[in-house]
Amino acid sequence: MSKTIVDTFFETSEKLPKGMKEFLKWLQKNAPPNIDRLVHDLHDDLFEEIDCLDCANCCKTVGPAIKDIDIERLSKYMKIKPSKLIEQYMEIDDEQDYIFRSHPCPFLCSDNYCSVYEGRPKACREYPHTDRRRVMQLIQLHKKNIECCPVVFELFNRLKSTFKR
Ligand code: SF4
Ligand code: SF4
Repeated sequence: MSKTIVDTFFETSEKLPKGMKEFLKWLQKNAPPNIDRLVHDLHDDLFEEIDCLDCANCCKTVGPAIKDIDIERLSKYMKIKPSKLIEQYMEIDDEQDYIFRSHPCPFLCSDNYCSVYEGRPKACREYPHTDRRRVMQLIQLHKKNIECCPVVFELFNRLKSTFKR
């Protein structure tokens, strides 16, 4: 069986080598006007190729920022009081957002399914943010996510190859 992008991601120890750091710096100053389209197309292609159920690294290692509206939705979905949800699963981070108290996420199942999928926070739905508009405004976030998410890792490697300088 051939190696998948997820396999390659987990086997790569230095996910953000020097050449990539330089490329991201260059891209920040030199991104073409169609950069959103290029990134969105790569995002779509990669989510066709990658099954998040083979990975779940975001749910295992980075927690979402949780807003009041997420607490409302999730507590309704779980049929518990918001205060109970907060008490059992959350704490407040330096930016005054609620986050899940433990990693991996308490709602991640052993088969990598999310046990609260329909009620999950907005940040979980939007991760890894590579289909957002004005993608270059989030370049620092993407840089961070290259080290967490095989999609972002592969996306920027492919993008780098298309801009051979
Ligand atoms: S880290 Fe990326 S590829 Fe892995 S589960 Fe999360 S979104 Fe999917
Ligand atoms: S709520 Fe679900 S999608 Fe969000 S981090 Fe937890 S397991 Fe992952």
